[in-house]
Amino acid sequence: MEEKPTLSIVVPVYNEEENVRPLFEKIQAVCEAIGETYEVLFVDDGSHDKTFAVLSELSKQEPQLIVVRFQKNAGQTAAMAAGFEFARGQRIISMDGDLQNDPTDIPKLLHKLDEGYDLVCGWRKDRQDKFLTRRVPSIVANWIIGKVTGVPIHDNGCSLKAYRASVIKQVSLYGEMHRFIPAMSTVVGARIAEIVVTHHPRRFGKSKYGLGRVWRVMLDIIAFKFIIFVFAQRPTSQKISLWERLSKILFRPEQRAFRTAAFLSLPFFILGRVLFGNANIAALSCLSLAIVLLILGWITEDKIRRAKQETPALGALARFFAFRCKRRPIRIFGPVGAVLFILGGILPIAPISTLLSQVWNVDVLNLSAIFITSGILMFCFGLFGELITFANAKRVKDYVIETFLNTDNEGTCSE
Ligand code: UDP
Ligand code: MG
Repeated sequence: MEEKPTLSIVVPVYNEEENVRPLFEKIQAVCEAIGETYEVLFVDDGSHDKTFAVLSELSKQEPQLIVVRFQKNAGQTAAMAAGFEFARGQRIISMDGDLQNDPTDIPKLLHKLDEGYDLVCGWRKDRQDKFLTRRVPSIVANWIIGKVTGVPIHDNGCSLKAYRASVIKQVSLYGEMHRFIPAMSTVVGARIAEIVVTHHPRRFGKSKYGLGRVWRVMLDIIAFKFIIFVFAQRPTSQKISLWERLSKILFRPEQRAFRTAAFLSLPFFILGRVLFGNANIAALSCLSLAIVLLILGWITEDKIRRAKQETPALGALARFFAFRCKRRPIRIFGPVGAVLFILGGILPIAPISTLLSQVWNVDVLNLSAIFITSGILMFCFGLFGELITFANAKRVKDYVIETFLNTDNEGTCSE
């Protein structure tokens, strides 16, 4: 059997027919110069143009080129995840397929990785994209991601990165998680570094994303903060909070989701107790919210445990979250929750409240409490759904893609 290459380059491509050939040639030139054994995995994410035709033609002459093809467009994250899964090298490089990243940066990235890191991120310090619609949102998003996740990387969105294979293969990627690889890698305790890389303007083809991603990225940030909060292994040297000290006494260490639910429900128990007596409906909604949160946490705990055991059958709730919610529960329940919450907030404001209380004789404060608590519940439903989806990420991936590996190189068809 042929020896495993030591280096794998992973490139997701979606409608990049003009770019794939010149990119492969550039990567090849760089890898030959490095002098290691290597493979280049192009993952065709269900392109409608000639991308796959060009790649399969090319792979007939190039033994280092491996082509993975999705039957339908599953997104950049799924494409990268598939590339990581099939990669055989101990070190992996990922990059965009549109020639915006420069393969000549690869040696620099590897050099940094060899200094003892598990992940080295490229930073497009001199980014060649539109200022207002691309660079400004990116600067703001990176700042927020850094603050929220505690991983201060300048450029999370840069696909040019180097990874230790043993580490990145453990990171669950689903949805549009490729923008959060640094933060997600901390869940498995990765050591992360960053270096400045070159960036070119796009010459051929179009960008696949528009301004719509800003809102999606914001929801993702909240979801990932939650996932990290629940799953991340904290170094023992770090100062632990009173809550953590208390939860060590009250819960078993593996009861992470349930512990989080208890943490979230506590203020509502207290509020419900305080309101009890004079605002009964508001008190009841707070108490019910607290109880439902606890139940949700308990069920999530069970789903995470089952996902770890890799039992083949998914429960109804896990199936609902993992497959029905277009793979991202927070994107559906988050906005619904936010709308209910805002509605609850504006109901007591003058013209609306007078209309409601005088014309329809409604108790505005109680109604507002019901809206606010159900908004919070919806949002939390999305968040706990994220936990379940995260725990089942492997299966989500299996569900969204049908892959086949180019037979010229492997001699086998996969899946
Ligand atoms: N891409 C993909 N699937 C998608 C969208 C994008 O594989 O659904 C690939 C795309 O072909 C490119 C990379 O992901 O190689 C980055 O996409 P793009 O250049 O459009 O993003 P931008 O550089 O504008 O952020
Ligand atoms: Mg690009």
